[in-house]
Amino acid sequence: MEIKVMENSPFARIARLVLKSRNVAMVLGKTVHLSGVSKEIFLKDEGWVAHELCHVEQFRQHGYLRFLWLYLVESLRVGYYNNKFEVEARIAGMKHMQHLSPTQKAAFALKPTELPLPADKRET
Ligand SMILES: [Zn+2]
Repeated sequence: MEIKVMENSPFARIARLVLKSRNVAMVLGKTVHLSGVSKEIFLKDEGWVAHELCHVEQFRQHGYLRFLWLYLVESLRVGYYNNKFEVEARIAGMKHMQHLSPTQKAAFALKPTELPLPADKRET
């Protein structure tokens, strides 16, 4: 699968304003749109890349417009965090943490709402 990464994307910029985040990655079809973060830094973040690749897969699975529609309906119904497509992507994004100790994993499990959202990952 051919995937593109686009820096300074106007779409990601809009998402940034909506999410009130300093840096955002968002997927449209097979392109990862970035705003506030460089391609270089994004690609170094294994978990973040895995998360966005999961969305690419979701677009492929459901079809472009259909997925946008399903995502929107799901977001309106349960919100961003509980959106099943985000949950799936978040799990994909955490697979790289398999090397963590059980205690570290438990810390994540106990505070699911404090997990960094993909859009917030680089806010330090
Ligand atoms: Zn996501």
